[in-house]
Amino acid sequence: MQREAMPVDVLFVGGGPACLAGAIHLMDLIAKHNERSADKIAEPMIAIIEKGSEIGSHALSGAVLDPKALDELIPKWREMDFPVERYVENEEMVLLTETRALKAPMMPPGLEDHGLPIVSIAKMQRWLAAIAESKGVMIFPGFAGSELLWSETDSDNGAGGPKARKVVGVRCGDKGIDAQGRRKDNYEPGMDLQAKVTILGEGPRGHLARQLIDQLGLDEGKQPQVYEIGVKEVLELPPGSVKRGEVTLTMGFPLDTQTFGGAFLYTMGGDKACIGMLVGLDARDPAIDAHYLLQKLKNHPYFRKKLAGGKVVRYGAKTVTVGGWGSIPKLYGDGAMIVGDAASFLNPMRIKGIHLSMKSGMLAAEAAFTALVRGDSSAAVLAEYAHKVENSWIKTEMEPAKNFHASFENGLSGGLTRVGLGLVFGPGDEIVPFHADYEQMRKQASVHGTSGYPKRDDLVYDGTYLLDKLTDVYLSGTKHDEHQPTHLIIADTEICATRCAEEYGNPCTRFCPAQVYNMIDNDATGRKEMRVDFANCVHCKTCDIRDPYQIIQWVPPEGGQGPEYGIL
Ligand code: SF4
Repeated sequence: MQREAMPVDVLFVGGGPACLAGAIHLMDLIAKHNERSADKIAEPMIAIIEKGSEIGSHALSGAVLDPKALDELIPKWREMDFPVERYVENEEMVLLTETRALKAPMMPPGLEDHGLPIVSIAKMQRWLAAIAESKGVMIFPGFAGSELLWSETDSDNGAGGPKARKVVGVRCGDKGIDAQGRRKDNYEPGMDLQAKVTILGEGPRGHLARQLIDQLGLDEGKQPQVYEIGVKEVLELPPGSVKRGEVTLTMGFPLDTQTFGGAFLYTMGGDKACIGMLVGLDARDPAIDAHYLLQKLKNHPYFRKKLAGGKVVRYGAKTVTVGGWGSIPKLYGDGAMIVGDAASFLNPMRIKGIHLSMKSGMLAAEAAFTALVRGDSSAAVLAEYAHKVENSWIKTEMEPAKNFHASFENGLSGGLTRVGLGLVFGPGDEIVPFHADYEQMRKQASVHGTSGYPKRDDLVYDGTYLLDKLTDVYLSGTKHDEHQPTHLIIADTEICATRCAEEYGNPCTRFCPAQVYNMIDNDATGRKEMRVDFANCVHCKTCDIRDPYQIIQWVPPEGGQGPEYGIL
């Protein structure tokens, strides 16, 4: 078997805002350097690989963008064809009870978005990708990085111990392997992209970023990376009924007081609105199901009125990192850096991270540039990235919110009090420790007694406004060739049929937003056993994070597969 190899100078893994901003900034730095210096970086090879079939296909609909990083990257974006859906004109915070909606007199501090652009993340990524390509960045969609390439360095870090290992690129996944692991006629070995510097920006729970963190112990002394799942739908509303630039944030119903989360609604261009729920993956209740909660939310009289006549046209789910400043791992090793959501760059107090991700990509690009100029991509040189983060507005914004997640570990009311006190008296010097998400799930008997998960017969799915999970999965456009090895590896399915069924009631059958996990009667054994419908997967990684036994591993399927969120 001949595996193709392609040498590049800098490889960005992931076609999201962090890597796109990083690649553009790096090309700008190289262009400036080449104008001024006789010692030019000739024909720089800067590449981005993206596991989706095209840039933006795994990016989920709308967001309110803080343009701080974009202002630095492309100062004239407002005069260009940057794709803005609307600018925020009206915003409100609403507390929902089961039947009522109480509007807050003002937006809580830090959540005001007035005047900011509402964007489709997919459209924004495609816009950035076009600029990156115009500057000479090579973009390879449909390429999933499956493993890091390592070499040993000469350095033993001065400790006389084993030599340090250095990242020297990424191996992409093979294509054309059948479910039994045999090569099909269309077999293609994955390419090796050999890079002087590798920048990992694969999004939350990045597969390669985890390899790097685990291999180099980059999370030692840090808080765990913790997450919320976001489920979103885009609705098409009757023509003329969508108010311009409206953002609504809600608290309360349908979440219980032990579960952190909330909901949002933004209006978009073309009579569309985007509604979603965020639910903490540290929820105590094993039966929590974010998709079902989103349907309950839409059934509330407040949203029934706002979204009257609406038809769901797109669905998706994605996790967001909410650990904040304390969860950011050491950001570099020999030959590699981590950027964006993969490194927990999100402000959990504002639930905003695109600007932080972009800035982290740009700062990593500056360290990569130094590495290229010096011809040295050792950890000692790439440490410049972490130093720049420490001295940037990333820290100024994220550090004061460092205890936001810990404040809510024991419920909503105590959390609100602690956050309120923090706003008045400051967040304190210390980072308050918190638990990994999977440690927080309670056994079903302690939450639901002996009767098992509560029955769900309160919603009538009409196929238009309230959708069951599988109908929504169809609207995610997700596709996987079923004749390939599963990309959801359960280390021991016997645990699913026995311990997990008894202790937790198989929570994956609820928390997966795409109904991938199903307990099916097996007539031969007379018991229920796990069936994994991996073709439904929308790549949110919730199972990898929330499974209480930590026996589910998400690995990339063949490149180019997964959701197709499109550019709605
Ligand atoms: Fe998300 Fe896992 Fe379900 Fe895929 S299988 S949609 S990664 S929870």
